[in-house]
Order: sequence, then structure tokens, then C-alpha cells
Amino acid sequence: MAAFNDNPVPADGQAITLESGRFKVPDRPIIPFIEGDGTGPDIWAASRRVFDAAVHCAYGGKRQAVWYEVFAGEKAYQKFQQWLPEDTIAAVRQFRVAIKGPLTTPVGGGIRSLNVALRQRLDLYACVRPVRYYAGVPSPVKHPEHMNLIIYRENTEDVYAGIEFREGTPEAEKLIRYLNGEFGKNIRADSGVGIKPISRFASQRLVRKAIEYARGHGRTVVTLVHKGNIQKFTEGAFRDWGYQLAKEEFGALCISEEDLAKPPYNGKLPAGKILINDRIADSMFQQVLTRAQEYQVVCTPNLNGDYLSDACAAQVGGLGLAPGANLSDEYAFFEATHGTAPKYAGKDVINPGSVMLSGVMMFEALGWDEAARLIENGLAATISQKRVTYDLERLMPGATKLKTSEFANAIIENLQA
Ligand code: NAP
Repeated sequence: MAAFNDNPVPADGQAITLESGRFKVPDRPIIPFIEGDGTGPDIWAASRRVFDAAVHCAYGGKRQAVWYEVFAGEKAYQKFQQWLPEDTIAAVRQFRVAIKGPLTTPVGGGIRSLNVALRQRLDLYACVRPVRYYAGVPSPVKHPEHMNLIIYRENTEDVYAGIEFREGTPEAEKLIRYLNGEFGKNIRADSGVGIKPISRFASQRLVRKAIEYARGHGRTVVTLVHKGNIQKFTEGAFRDWGYQLAKEEFGALCISEEDLAKPPYNGKLPAGKILINDRIADSMFQQVLTRAQEYQVVCTPNLNGDYLSDACAAQVGGLGLAPGANLSDEYAFFEATHGTAPKYAGKDVINPGSVMLSGVMMFEALGWDEAARLIENGLAATISQKRVTYDLERLMPGATKLKTSEFANAIIENLQA
């Protein structure tokens, strides 16, 4: 197509394509972006300058991201009276890899959440959140540097499936009657009810992606986090299906904790193998505080993943530096994990680190690792120089407070140095 939402496709770039399940990336890939609402424009302007500087520094003029604006959220509503235009979905389908700032959740707009809608429409089934510490960032724990893990959160089902009925509605009453009558349950008549579907299909494709990531990135532990002690046939099944998939599809590569303890391993993981273990969710929240260094790749259903990724991000310095990606087997959408922080909109003060680090993930997915490392190292160097935005400055004695745009300038200086 020549245009999406009346915005002409840039003539000087090409689409990323998919070949044998892998992205084939031209030197000038067209990358759709959604600027985002609230502080989104400030964050995007700063991030885009850093991305372009890093790509230029890494590859001279040989490679360049060709940015292409697509619309969702308030900007889309103002322009097209739609929160999520069909053309935006179509553009992401066409160009395969996209990036976005935070989006307002419309109130009474007929859409529960734009982020959830995007994930469902594109079947972005894996929400991926790396959590690592950058030296100098203020943290509430003694050893934030012990945490370096990547969370694979299931994105399409669990209590996010939207099957929920308000107390007193005919639907809720009917369901309660059915469950009480047919299954001998004892649900109070004045209950709201929700359904938590967890399927073998969705669980196993997520676990497959997490193990493939571990295998491709030299990570040696994959942990299934679940609440299977109580929710046996949903969360417990997630764990069982995970182990089953590891055994059936990855065979000798994956060793369970139980097997690892026995001969011939006697507790020692051989080189090139992956330990697959599981933890109950409540215990995992303790473990990430007390033994964070024991975890590398975490794979978990939707709601656990939601809680756990924000808790882990807080341990290493908060949401301002927490990147994210939503992946399917065909598309990759990179995103800020925080919200629009509307009170700071247009003030050029917010921390753009979340989108910048999402860009690091994006460039890694494109195979542009040199650019990714420049951005990451430039950001780390700037933080270690104590040149930071307000959110970090207020917790870092002796730090210099920078505006969003100045923070981007400092990163560019550092990555070029
Ligand atoms: P929020 O926008 O994440 O902001 C809450 C607070 O977190 C901010 O006031 C600020 O704290 C801090 N914060 C967030 N982003 C920051 C950053 N980049 N740098 C520094 N500090 C940052 O949460 P909210 O106010 O609950 O949500 C606002 C809107 O965003 C809602 O419409 C919500 O639905 C939406 N939302 C979107 C996404 C998404 O698009 N992925 C995610 C979550 C929420 P201080 O005031 O203490 O500095």
C-alpha cells in the first residue's frame, strides 16, 4: 500500500520481510512508530535522535531506520475519531517491526485498553521484559546488580481474556446458577464472576519462545512461574505443559531440577545445557529479592507476569528504565512499559529510558547489535556520570538534573565518544 491513514509510505525505505521464521532486514527498513500520548512526544523525540545517532555511528550511512508515523490513542482520535485505526494495524502487518510510546487508556471509548487491543489484534503472544541494573541508578535493594533476567509473560489469555461479568447482571446470575446447579459449587449470588482460560497451545508457544531465547543468548536457566498449588488446572497445567514441551521439543538440552540433583549431574549443569525449573509465584516474589542471581529467563502466565515485571523493574530503579516488547512469530512491537505520565506532558522532563531501551531490544531483533550496544552503553555511561532526568536525580545525591532532550544529548555525546 502507498499510504496508511493518508500518510504516504516513505519512498526511500523497504519493508522488513519474514523468511523461514526470521526477519529479513534491508539496510533501510521502514519502521512504523506511534509517538504516544501525554509525555509520549517528548520521549519519542529524544529517543529517535538517540536511535539515529547510534545507527549512524555504527554503520556510517550504510544503514538507516526509515521512521514512519502511524496513529493510535489521542492523536488518532483527534485525526480520525478512532482510537486504533485499522490502517495502523495494517501498517504494522506490512512492516512487521514497530515501536511505540505510552498510550492513554480511553475512558468510555469502547476499548478497554489500546495496548491489550494491539496485542490481541496482532496476536502478540509474548510480552518480553528484560530487567537489568545500570550502575549508579538508585535502587531500594542492597544488591540490584544481582538481577539480570528476562521475563516472558503470556499476553493473550488468563484473566485478561475479558470474560468477566458484573454482579447482578443476567450473565453473572446465569453463570452462577449454572456452576452452583451443575457442578455443586457454592458461589454467592451477589458475586461478580470472571473466567481464567489457560490453554496448552498458548502456554507451550510461550515456553518454546523462552527456551529458544535462552538457547540463542547463552542463558542457562528457564523458570516457569505459576500458582499451580491452588489453580491446578490453569496455572498448574501451565507448569506441566511447559515441562512437557521442554522434554518433547528440546530433549537433552533441558535438564529438570530433579534430574540435575541426581547422577550423572550431581548438581552441576553441563556446559551448553539449560536448567528448567519452576517456582510458585508467591515464592518467586521472595526469590527475586533474596536470590535474584539464580534466575535468568522467567516464563509465566499473564497476571503473574504483570505483577512480577513491575516488581522486578522497581528493584533495579523503576519504570523509567524498563523496556518491553510484544512478540508473535510474525511481528514485533517494542514499547514503553510505563504510562503517559500526563502531568509532565510537554514539559521536556520525563525519563525517556524505557523507550530507548526498547529501541535496544528492537535493534537486537533486527540484528543491528552494534547500534544496540552503542545506545545501551551511551545510556549507562550517562547515568554513571550522574547526568539524569528528575526521577533519578531526586534519589541520587550529587546528580545533575537534565531535561529529556538534554539527557538525549548527553547519551549521544557518550555514544559518539
Ligand atoms: P504512569 O503514566 O506510568 O505514571 C505514574 C507515575 O510514574 C508518574 O507520575 C511518574 O511518577 C512515574 N513515571 C511514569 N513514567 C515515567 C518516566 N518515563 N520517567 C519518570 N517517571 C515516570 O501511570 P498512570 O498515571 O497510572 O497512567 C497514565 C495513563 O497511562 C493512563 O491512561 C494509563 O492507562 C496509561 N498507561 C499506559 C501504558 C502503556 O501505554 N504501556 C502503561 C500503563 C498505563 P512521579 O510523579 O512520582 O514522578
